Amino acid sequence: MSLAYIGLGSNLSDPQAQISSALDKLTQLDNCVVKKVSSLYFSRPMGPQDQPDYMNAVVAIETSLNAIELLEELQSIENNAGRVRKDNRWGARALDLDILLFDLQVINTVRLTIPHYGLKLREFVLLPLAEIAAKLVLPDGDSIQELANQIDKNGLKIHSKLR
Ligand code: ATP
Ligand code: MG
Ligand code: MG
Repeated sequence: MSLAYIGLGSNLSDPQAQISSALDKLTQLDNCVVKKVSSLYFSRPMGPQDQPDYMNAVVAIETSLNAIELLEELQSIENNAGRVRKDNRWGARALDLDILLFDLQVINTVRLTIPHYGLKLREFVLLPLAEIAAKLVLPDGDSIQELANQIDKNGLKIHSKLR
């Protein structure tokens, strides 16, 4: 079994309901057990600012899938949530499910970069991750709690409990 951390994000079509329903879908996946769930956070958009604020969360799952199989499951949940892939990067979306970490694996292929390349740069990933895994250390030795302490919060706030 592997331990993976997944970042959830949404800023369209009732973000709170999107994240809560994505969490239900993750819970229902064969070969996956949701172990920890962060609070639900409000965050400001990256990139284009002419879009609604986001809601984000991070969950830990135990899985017998490999990283690519997990990516495929996540993409099918995204597609079922009505996500339309557009050319504009970081544009508004109903649901984004990113693999942040997969054990201590380091993967650099066309389809998959793990750890997620934005992990250390995004307050809406680091703070929820530190909430559920303060003692986590990245493959390069960096501590999640220290990264979370150092990053600019950029207005990030806890909205509510998810579970
Ligand atoms: P960002 O990657 O900056 O967070 P995004 O999440 O909006 O942007 P997507 O459109 O969801 O980007 O994904 C684009 C591609 O990224 C996917 O098709 C997938 O193959 C690839 N990808 C690479 N690494 C990962 C990862 N760790 N988790 C999810 N997708 C990944
Ligand atoms: Mg993303
Ligand atoms: Mg994504």
